[in-house]
Amino acid sequence: MVSAVAGNSVVDMTWRSLLSERTLLLNVTFQPLSIISVRRAVLLVLAEKAEILNCSDEVLRSESLEIKVPSIVRLKSYVRAPFRNRAPFHRKALFARDFYTCQYCGERADCIDHVLPVSKGGRNTWENLVACCRPCNAAKADLLLENTRFKLRRVPYAPEPLAVAVAMKEDVPLEWECYLPAPLALTV
Ligand SMILES: [Zn+2]
Repeated sequence: MVSAVAGNSVVDMTWRSLLSERTLLLNVTFQPLSIISVRRAVLLVLAEKAEILNCSDEVLRSESLEIKVPSIVRLKSYVRAPFRNRAPFHRKALFARDFYTCQYCGERADCIDHVLPVSKGGRNTWENLVACCRPCNAAKADLLLENTRFKLRRVPYAPEPLAVAVAMKEDVPLEWECYLPAPLALTV
């Protein structure tokens, strides 16, 4: 019965409004792997490759199936975590990484600073960009850090791709948080 509905026809019924929802995929070890579409999560469950750990109150219905929208699913067998490329740079995720605070003075950040200025070869990388307030940004100008009074509060780093994906998502479900490693600051 499961295989009879586990195909594309499943999502062609009354599910379209819920397809933009997202599900957190965990390994059998509870390690978070990625954020996947509800459609993919449901297909994993129907194929008996994953179990639902948490679901919302919304229900997906078709002629032969009724299932709550999964918020977290866990694989039933171990998969080797895929090699992760670096997360592409995202402005919003950078502010989240730096907790929305200026990395020089600790005040609220409202712009981004190149630690090594562009004029001196600085690039747009996670390691060379920090959240910054406008007064610090203006005072540092295009000077080398060692020629200023400024010191970085933390060494800038490239966050985990999954942490970036979470930071980019609106309304991260509360139930995800206990599974997410070193989450970026999600709120201001
Ligand atoms: Zn500042």
